[in-house]
Amino acid sequence: MRRSCGTMDVHYRLLRTVPQYAEARAASENHATRAAMTGVIGRTGCTRIPVVVHVVHHTAVENISDAQINSQIDVLNHDYRRTNADVGTVPAAFAGLTGDSRVEFQLATTDPAGNPTNGITRTSTAATSFSDDDRVKSAATGGHDAWPADRYLNIWVCRLGGGLLGYAQFPGGPAATDGVVILHSAFGTSGTAAAPFNLGRTATHEVGHWLNLRHIWGDDGTGCSGDDFVADTPNQGGPNYGVPTFPHISCSNGPNGDMFMNYMDYVDDAAMVMFSAGQVVRMQAALDGLRSSIGSSIPCDGGIKKLEPDIKKIEPDIKKREPDIKKIEPDIKKREPDIKKIEPDVKKREPDIKKREPDIKKIEPDVKKREPDIKKIEPDIKKREPDIKKFEPDIGPIKQDPEIPPIGPGPVEIGGAVQHLEGGGYTYEQQAYPGYEQGYGGYEGGGQGQFEERLQRIEAALAQLSHFIQQSQRPDVRKAPLRKERKPK
Ligand SMILES: [Zn+2]
Repeated sequence: MRRSCGTMDVHYRLLRTVPQYAEARAASENHATRAAMTGVIGRTGCTRIPVVVHVVHHTAVENISDAQINSQIDVLNHDYRRTNADVGTVPAAFAGLTGDSRVEFQLATTDPAGNPTNGITRTSTAATSFSDDDRVKSAATGGHDAWPADRYLNIWVCRLGGGLLGYAQFPGGPAATDGVVILHSAFGTSGTAAAPFNLGRTATHEVGHWLNLRHIWGDDGTGCSGDDFVADTPNQGGPNYGVPTFPHISCSNGPNGDMFMNYMDYVDDAAMVMFSAGQVVRMQAALDGLRSSIGSSIPCDGGIKKLEPDIKKIEPDIKKREPDIKKIEPDIKKREPDIKKIEPDVKKREPDIKKREPDIKKIEPDVKKREPDIKKIEPDIKKREPDIKKFEPDIGPIKQDPEIPPIGPGPVEIGGAVQHLEGGGYTYEQQAYPGYEQGYGGYEGGGQGQFEERLQRIEAALAQLSHFIQQSQRPDVRKAPLRKERKPK
């Protein structure tokens, strides 16, 4: 099977059918020529281009995996940064001409509406096959609409008929059809990718067109007059196929012959391994010109290229540790729900329970003894419950001496309790107990009789006491293990 690219067919069609296209192409060509002559390039660093891959499938097989898509993005990043492992196979005669295109690719993380995306769309289609007629680029014709071409590189992946591996649209064409189309079995390096087009080079070639590169032989059939408008690629007769042997001489271009190992020839994936320095200038000129809106500037020594050696270094370590990690994984997963359940509870109760535990224990016998008295005052307490609730959150921890003030049968005895409270023997922290003053502030205000004032003090004391009892009887507090029990000596 020979490589076949539909880009020039599309180019001629657009020249016929889109009035502004010819003008845009001419402007683009002038710009590229100027850049080649002056060497002046706007983007001095690297450019990262957001990519969206539209998978348009009729069969399940054509619905290629995320992994296959990622393998293609990897290839593009290697080929366009000259970090492809096989760049070393370039014959010495051309080795000095290989170029780092300074372009990187990343599946889009934000869709046109601003929402997060994995940069992949999937469309089931009734069409059994597509051609280079752009029908795959529109939902109305069984494909998927392009994302805005000024921000994304659109890549459609589908079944193409007629032995077509892919096609691209040069800069200057309509936005709705801008991007590249790749046969699903010539995309990426895994899944449906099939030899000899299973190294991801069809996309490298088509994206080259998208960045304004022409076929290296100049698209004049097999003649010697065609031009790719790049000075450092030798003049070449026609396309090379398969895996040629160096040198392949045509158009009197000996002794080195054709640069057939160039991505813009028609050789098999394994045989195309380089862009030339002149091609890089032409692509960068496109990024300064008609494609100036796309991509973001990144440092060339950062990103993928810089991280790669580090990642490779730690890879063996990670692999070594994998069995250990796998061993403990089920245990951790089993315990997760339990840990999550008790976490908030434990955190909330820990300081409270710890502080109060000894105090609660001490007063428990007293509380029991006093239960009949408490029952008597219960109706009063119930009345005041709304007030009690108000300052419940403000009640601080018990400070010292947890002695319970005596509650007698009569108001005098209760009054004693209040005095005890005021003397500091009984022990809620005033500071953490603002309700004591605010909620019952009336007793401090002037204009009230002594009896009234005293009654209010008693009620305040009762409120405190009842709250304290409630706290001590809370099932969670009662059931809470004591510190001593938890940490036996
Ligand atoms: Zn092509």
